[in-house]
Amino acid sequence: MIERDVILDVDVAVDALADHRPDGPMAKAAIDRVLHDKGRVWLVAASLPLLLERLREAIEVGAEEQGIGLTHAAASSRARTNLRSFLETAGVLTSHGFDAEAALETEAPTWALTLRAADAFSGDVAILSREPGFIATDVRVIAPKDFVAREYSKDGVDSKIPFVDLARQQRRILTKVEKRISTVLRHGQYIMGPEIKELEQKLAEYTGVDHAICCASGTDALLLALMAYGVGPGDAVFTSPFTFISTAEVISLLGAAPVFVDIDPWTFNMDPDCLAKAIRALRANDPEIYPLPARADDSAPTLRPKGIMPVDLFGIPSDYQRIYTIAAEERLFVIEDAAQSFGAEYHGRRAGSLGDIGCTSFFPAKPLGCYGDGGAVLTQDVGLADRMISLRIHGKGKDKYDNDRIGLNARMDTLQAALLLPKLEILPEEIMARNRVAAGYTERLSRLTGLQTPCVPEGLRSAWAQYSILTDRREDIQAALKAKGIPTAVYYPKPLHLQTAYAGLGYKQGDFPESESASRRILSLPMHPYLTAGQVEMIAKEVAAALKG
Ligand SMILES: *Cc1c(COP(=O)(O)O)cnc(C)c1O
Repeated sequence: MIERDVILDVDVAVDALADHRPDGPMAKAAIDRVLHDKGRVWLVAASLPLLLERLREAIEVGAEEQGIGLTHAAASSRARTNLRSFLETAGVLTSHGFDAEAALETEAPTWALTLRAADAFSGDVAILSREPGFIATDVRVIAPKDFVAREYSKDGVDSKIPFVDLARQQRRILTKVEKRISTVLRHGQYIMGPEIKELEQKLAEYTGVDHAICCASGTDALLLALMAYGVGPGDAVFTSPFTFISTAEVISLLGAAPVFVDIDPWTFNMDPDCLAKAIRALRANDPEIYPLPARADDSAPTLRPKGIMPVDLFGIPSDYQRIYTIAAEERLFVIEDAAQSFGAEYHGRRAGSLGDIGCTSFFPAKPLGCYGDGGAVLTQDVGLADRMISLRIHGKGKDKYDNDRIGLNARMDTLQAALLLPKLEILPEEIMARNRVAAGYTERLSRLTGLQTPCVPEGLRSAWAQYSILTDRREDIQAALKAKGIPTAVYYPKPLHLQTAYAGLGYKQGDFPESESASRRILSLPMHPYLTAGQVEMIAKEVAAALKG
């Protein structure tokens, strides 16, 4: 593994930032190499005062050698200007409270500070220094000339490919995330602090809805949406059996019944033709038309169709045009499960804004993830928004201790909102990068026989939560990739109607053939914005080889 990120020790930083330094060209060459390889250059926050001081000295010496007179104040000002513009590309690392410990623990406090910052770093990092004494203390420390001369592995591809690379993203935004977290620690409003409102405004802006409401998870988002419609016993909500358990679980938790609707085998999303049949079957109480959940006995009242919950699986929005035609005719609500599609587009509109209520999740591995649990509901309807705002906090009314309704404790932590803000800023770029990765896979895999690549309908853009292929050779491909250190995953190995938790609905094998077939044949390949073209090529090559083998 070659580290792509480097921390500059004070001496190397001075070389790079002052003119006419003998070691300047080498320091700059090392930095150029890091940036060329899409790594980041870091400075250590606790060493910045010392760096400024040394930089000023170097600038004074350089000016003197050039025969230019420079006042102390002018050199000082130039040092600050140089550093400020360098910080547009370089990040600043802190190890917070540990800085003080490191500063006291050795004779060479800046070395200790730098090592502490490297220890706290998420991922591999090299430290550039010219001090032989420092280079001898730790294997991570290397001279710029040796760093520049260092060989990469032959194909330039990292041997370790994570399925989802959160560390790489964190390194990109670490300074901003740390600043945001510190702000929360200082204001101390851990519950419903100002970052919640700020994030809600940004989420509403991004998705183009009037009301965005942060909540504790994607599951709570779905629950809040159903509760806003007063869903309860006797109600039926139509949804997909090829999804994560949350989607159907919340329907059942409220005493209502999920009525499953099979998927379209190309998009893995709810098939509107099957939806129409399922509604007809339920209204006629006739499972001959379409499979229905079992009733306790014949005397049990038939279920009332209330709403539709399409899932934008793997990041591709469902067919809302046709779903809405049906919903309008049948007077049903539409709740979009956009847990996997945040950042996706549907004919110019953003996912999350495609239902009467959109629900999303900020679980760490989703396209927009926090560092814990989080979610949001999105809507244009002020009445629904008001109800969900109340439901989110125990059904609160105007007075905190006079509640209007029975609700939940479903707030998002202020800390999660704070760190989602810098993540949301880079989401558009990350979605583009995910689309490049997906295009790279599709280009290399779509012509292979024995495999079906994902299909994004015209006018849509996926958020690529997953890149999932269909193949009868799933086990062979998984084993071959695993042998090469490439992780894969199966979403989902068992459709909901065949899971033990849903045995009570009385569905059986064969009820939803497309979902069952997908469960047997689906395979997701590594997908994140930081996969390189070389890695995608390498993974695709291994998939092709496994299919031939
Ligand atoms: C992740 C996910 C959820 C639930 O989100 P949490 O934040 O984990 O509660 C719901 N639906 C789908 C389709 C998901 O992928």
